[in-house]
Amino acid sequence: MGNKKQKVLAVGSVALDTVKTPFGKAERALGGSATFFSASARFFSDVSVVAVVGEDFPQKHLQLLKNLKIDTRDLKVASGKTFHWEGLYSYDLNNPKTLKTELNVFEHFKPVLSDENRSQRFVFLANIDPEIQLTVLKQVRNPLFSACDTMNFWIGTKKKALLSLLKNVDIFLCNDGEARQLSGEYGLLQAAKWILSRGPKLLVIKKGEHGVTCFSKKFTFVAPAYPLEQVFDPTGAGDSFAGGFISYLTRSHNLDEATVRKAVIYGSVLASYNVESFSLNRLVSLKPSEIDSRYEHFKELTKF
Ligand code: AMP
Repeated sequence: MGNKKQKVLAVGSVALDTVKTPFGKAERALGGSATFFSASARFFSDVSVVAVVGEDFPQKHLQLLKNLKIDTRDLKVASGKTFHWEGLYSYDLNNPKTLKTELNVFEHFKPVLSDENRSQRFVFLANIDPEIQLTVLKQVRNPLFSACDTMNFWIGTKKKALLSLLKNVDIFLCNDGEARQLSGEYGLLQAAKWILSRGPKLLVIKKGEHGVTCFSKKFTFVAPAYPLEQVFDPTGAGDSFAGGFISYLTRSHNLDEATVRKAVIYGSVLASYNVESFSLNRLVSLKPSEIDSRYEHFKELTKF
C-alpha cells in the first residue's frame, strides 16, 4: 500500500450542539456526526467531509477542521442557520434525551460532489437524513466499500429511505436501541439477522459503556468498552468510534475478520478518549502514542 494515506469521504451533520450532562453544560459547541467522525478518522486516513453549515457557523470552527487537515472542499456555507441539536443526559449516559433537532440548512441540502470526491474509494455516510446519504453514495463512481450510521430520529421519520440505503452499503453501524427499533425484534441476535438480511455484510451494534458487538454471516465479535474513571460527555461516542473503525479499515484496505476485530478496538479507543471531555476537545489534543498505549492496554484487559 506504500506510505500514501488512503482517503475516506464522509457525509453527515456538522452542527452546533447544546449538551447538558450531570457534570456540566456546553452551549452551541462544535458537534455533528461528520465532525466527530472526521476528527477521529484523521488518525488512520485522510478525510474529506461533505456537509453544509449556516452563516452563523463560527469561522474558528472552520479553521479548526482545516487545522486538523480535514479536507473541506465539499463543506458548503448556505444562507440560514447551522444544524442545531440539543441533548440532555441523566445518569444513564448511554441514552440522551433529544430536546431539539433543528435541521436548518440541512433541510434543503442537495450535495453535489466535487469531481475529486466522486472518485473516492471509501465512503462513510454518518448519521444524517438517509436521502442525503443515498444522494452522496450514488455520486461516488466506484467505491471499494461503503458504510452508514443512523439514529432513532431517521428510523422514525425516513425508514423507507433508510431501508433502500441498507441495500447499497457494506457496513451498517447503529446502537442497540436503534437495531431493535429498525427490525422490530427485541433480541439483539434476531435484530442482527433481520438487518443482515437487508443488505449489509457487516453490522456493528454499539452499546455505549457495554461495548460493541459485530455481526457478519461468518463471525461474531464481542468487545467491551474501555473502562474509564470518568465520562464527561458521551456526545459523539458513536461517531468517534466509527471514525477509528472505518479509517482503520480504509487504511488496511480490507474487511477480513482479523482486520475488523482490530478496527473495532481502535474505534473503541477513539470513543473512549472522546467522552473524556465536552465537544471535540479531547480528540483535538489526542496524540497517536496515546491511541497506541490504550490499544495495548485493551489487549491486556481482554486476554484470558
Ligand atoms: P453520537 O455519536 O450518537 O453521540 O452523535 C452525536 C452527534 O449527532 C451530535 O453532535 C449531534 O449534532 C448529531 N445529531 C443529533 N441528532 C442528529 C440527527 N437527527 N441527524 C444528524 N445528526 C444528528
